[in-house]
Amino acid sequence: MIFIYRIEIVSLIHLNIPKDHPRAESLRVRELIIEGMHENIVAEAGLIAHGRGEAFDYLIGEKTPDFAVKQQTAAVALMLLAEKPVISVNGNVASLCPEDLIKLASVLSAELEVNLFYRREERSSIVTRKLEENGAKNVLGNDSSFHTSIDELTHSRRVVDKRGIHSADVILVPLEDGDRTMALRKIGKKVITIDLNPLSRTSVWSDISIVNNVVRAIPEMIEIAKKLKNKKQDDLKKIVSDFNNYKSLQESLSFISLRLNKLAEGELEKPKIE
Ligand code: ATP
Ligand code: MG
Repeated sequence: MIFIYRIEIVSLIHLNIPKDHPRAESLRVRELIIEGMHENIVAEAGLIAHGRGEAFDYLIGEKTPDFAVKQQTAAVALMLLAEKPVISVNGNVASLCPEDLIKLASVLSAELEVNLFYRREERSSIVTRKLEENGAKNVLGNDSSFHTSIDELTHSRRVVDKRGIHSADVILVPLEDGDRTMALRKIGKKVITIDLNPLSRTSVWSDISIVNNVVRAIPEMIEIAKKLKNKKQDDLKKIVSDFNNYKSLQESLSFISLRLNKLAEGELEKPKIE
């Protein structure tokens, strides 16, 4: 019975999604997460987190709003100014956009560190391998001889790499948990997060929150980084100092509420029956 059920799931995720399907892109991304779960890269709770993200993506219109471009620009400027920037990788992002993570790390001269909420040695190795298969050279977080811990945290994510998050000044944590964002800030790190929910504790507690889908944010940040890389330090500092996370989250919420109001007042697209 279990065997049949599994065959059904596996065949479902290999279903070809027709290109003209109105939700083709969302289904393609969902398929990556399901595949990631079967490869033991994504934790079961990662599926739930993804579903919550999808719901918020609907609210922003499933494309990058202007406020997110500003958030992404400030984030890239801060990473470029950092002495030791690190990108923390969990199972969801490793499944969704491994190649883009590697490109972003390269253009920002940042380290990649695997850091899992539901940490198990085996899963950590599998996520590391996934990044290596996509071309990453020096993935941190998996070698226990470099492990140390963040005392402010109780769960498994307290384990970090001495060469990475532990000694970093700026950390990009796509899809972070609220508690850990706070713990990282308490130990003096600047924290940049990507989270579609502008109301999450993660978004509220970060130095810079990017309210966008990681599958759009990461490639867009690569392009922004290429442009900002040659700017003067003072120009980058100005971008960062002009950014106010609280105001930026307010802007994100206004965007969503205005958009919903317009839809409620009659701009809702009616399906055409042909
Ligand atoms: P917090 O702990 O910050 O209060 P939470 O407990 O509600 O948040 P978590 O389960 O810790 O949420 O993390 C999941 C978060 O990741 C959700 O807020 C969800 O919107 C976000 N998320 C999931 N998938 C994506 C994605 N592809 N891009 C951006 N954000 C995403
Ligand atoms: Mg949480």
